Amino acid sequence: MKIRSFDADKAILYLVATPIGNLKDMTFRAIEVLQSVDKIYAEDTRTSGVLLSYYDIHTKLESYHEYNQDLKADQVLNELNSGMKLAIISDAGLPVISDPGYKLVTLAIENGIAVSTIPGASAGISALIASGLAPMPYTFYGFLDAKHIKRIKELEDLKYLPHTIIFYEAPHRIEETLKDLLSVFGNRQIVLARELTKTFEEYARGTIEDILLELPTKGEMVLIVEGYKEENQIDNPFQKIDELISLGSKPNDAIKEVAKLINANKSELYKGYLEYKNK
Ligand code: SAM
Repeated sequence: MKIRSFDADKAILYLVATPIGNLKDMTFRAIEVLQSVDKIYAEDTRTSGVLLSYYDIHTKLESYHEYNQDLKADQVLNELNSGMKLAIISDAGLPVISDPGYKLVTLAIENGIAVSTIPGASAGISALIASGLAPMPYTFYGFLDAKHIKRIKELEDLKYLPHTIIFYEAPHRIEETLKDLLSVFGNRQIVLARELTKTFEEYARGTIEDILLELPTKGEMVLIVEGYKEENQIDNPFQKIDELISLGSKPNDAIKEVAKLINANKSELYKGYLEYKNK
């Protein structure tokens, strides 16, 4: 079924991107659309009120969030069916992405109503492109489960995925998540992108163990994780050490690198390596 988006007389549901921290990351088009629609549905009317007043937007604002989205769905659909032009915004970034809105998108489509995106900031993809990890292929995962057992199961399912993975995480859970990630994925390369677009924006790049050593506990964060790589899997770590030495590494550096790759203790690996060589 084809639906043309911009028909002056017909209803439309706009999904409008808003800034992820820096109020200036708002597009001209987003402002124009928010000024012109009949009503804006926002995740948190107080948060969005700040943005709207900054841009002198006076459109009617109503709440639409995780806890009332089922109740409000009929109301929104009736409004669309009566020909209204509506916009959904979330507290930050793109609505629908780890935020409410998906239900309304499907309802609108089922009812032949146009759904259109007003693109702009989104934390995950913004972090990915500056991470330095392979940008493609990637998987956007969003939040892992808050419960340890479920999170481990989710990570087990992702373990062999050869894609860079984008996770969202809360600062109070990042340590537990990284420890679970280390135990399931091994010591992969990751990037923790924090406070994007804000004054204290920071990218921490390194292995999971490196990042755990200086872990930030504040701020909004996106976690980008290197995908599964066959070559990072080592059948015999001692042979791998020999291989690195033959390629020019100093023995100490080779042991350090292999210990990181297989998530082993460096001195234990060194002891094992000496035994292996003296056999
Ligand atoms: N819809 C949003 C988007 O398009 O990115 C995501 C909303 S989700 C509820 C909020 C999560 O996004 C935060 O917990 C954090 O993981 C990430 N996030 C949002 N803003 C961020 C920022 N400025 N810097 C880093 N991460 C951010």
